[in-house]
Amino acid sequence: MPRTQRLVIASGNRHKVTELQRAIAEVVLPEGVALEVVSATVHGALPTIIEDRETFAGNATVKALGFAGWLRERGEDPSALVLADDSGLCVAALDGRPGIYSARFAGENAADSDNNRALVSALRALNLEASPAHYVCALALARVDLGPLAEADGEGVRIFTGRWDVEARVVARGEGGFGYDPYMWLDGRAQTVAELGPDVKSARSHRGAAMVELQAALPRIIAGL
Ligand code: IMP
Repeated sequence: MPRTQRLVIASGNRHKVTELQRAIAEVVLPEGVALEVVSATVHGALPTIIEDRETFAGNATVKALGFAGWLRERGEDPSALVLADDSGLCVAALDGRPGIYSARFAGENAADSDNNRALVSALRALNLEASPAHYVCALALARVDLGPLAEADGEGVRIFTGRWDVEARVVARGEGGFGYDPYMWLDGRAQTVAELGPDVKSARSHRGAAMVELQAALPRIIAGL
């Protein structure tokens, strides 16, 4: 009998869930194992997890642990995997800001447009038109019952990270992507991240790089569950 391994994505963001589902679909699984990837929204409205650590990996860990507890309460299979992520933008001239505060650079519940205005103001306040910058993505994987996971850390979580070097500028171009993408320039200012199609963005991005690490590790993790 084939075994079905569940993997729950700790996000209600459909864009992220689809991207992760597509990446995971490419994983070559151990024989006799099928993988079922679902969003945590199958269990209802998602809990708010307070992200109180100082790194992307720390906050991804807090989310994975928080969601694992919530999923246990909701009756999720204890041997299911839970995958959480945290990401953001670090601008060199701003000493790495907004970093883990990327989603709220302009304040709690800020819209992307507010955050982009805050970024432009911060650069202009330094009399700068541009600065090297990079996006970071940390994925955190755990078992719902926090049981053993191949190569997990002391908290029972396995982290995968990706980085994408870009140039932050005060001028924007492009309609695609989200967040800071229209202001992030690539390839010697030939284009912005917001001008890339979704597949090209995935192939080059911080999230894509973290997913490649996850894809490589998943067969061994699943075999050991
Ligand atoms: P989170 O991963 O949903 O916590 O996103 C954190 C914030 O980082 C987002 O609200 C964006 O402002 C920024 N961010 C993360 N990844 C990207 C990206 O691929 N493009 C643009 N902004 C991003």
